[in-house]
Amino acid sequence: MRKRQAGSYRTIKDLVLDYVAKNDGRVEPSRIEEAVLLHFPDSAWKNSHWQWYRYQICKGRFKDEFSEEVRTNLSEGIRRNRRSHPAVKRHGDRILRQARQMISEAARGDSTLRFKINRWVFSRLQQDEIQTKKPLKNMLWDSGVRACQVCGKPFSSLRGVHLHRIDASMEYSDRNCQLLCRLCHNS
Ligand SMILES: [Zn+2]
Repeated sequence: MRKRQAGSYRTIKDLVLDYVAKNDGRVEPSRIEEAVLLHFPDSAWKNSHWQWYRYQICKGRFKDEFSEEVRTNLSEGIRRNRRSHPAVKRHGDRILRQARQMISEAARGDSTLRFKINRWVFSRLQQDEIQTKKPLKNMLWDSGVRACQVCGKPFSSLRGVHLHRIDASMEYSDRNCQLLCRLCHNS
């Protein structure tokens, strides 16, 4: 059982693991950030650090130190975040309706043309998303990440390195992304 008095943490890791245990895995990222900065004011704590701990507690090296209940609560927090925002659905559906109508009108009953326009729009939108990844990979690399953030396998370059979104419902951003090896990303 982890038990310590506030203010007596030797390391951020001690604090984080204790905080998770005390809160039975029900952790708001902003609250844990507050706690870290209270005890370690000089820390360069980032949300990605919390995501790393959360992953390690659910699946990684600290997994065995926590009860099933704590791990369930932690991963349910992840799932709660995955529900899409109602406004996303409302705007998204409206845009889709308009896009489908415009594609139909442009194709004028030509099914091949309709297919090609549809594919063109689809792949360009997908490309927009892919284009956001490259600068993020460079940013993470430049911030000193030189190894897989799950298994610790060292990277010699960014070639073959995968960008992983910690919360799959959220966008590619420095707060929501890690660099992983191919094996860890695909598992
Ligand atoms: Zn790995």
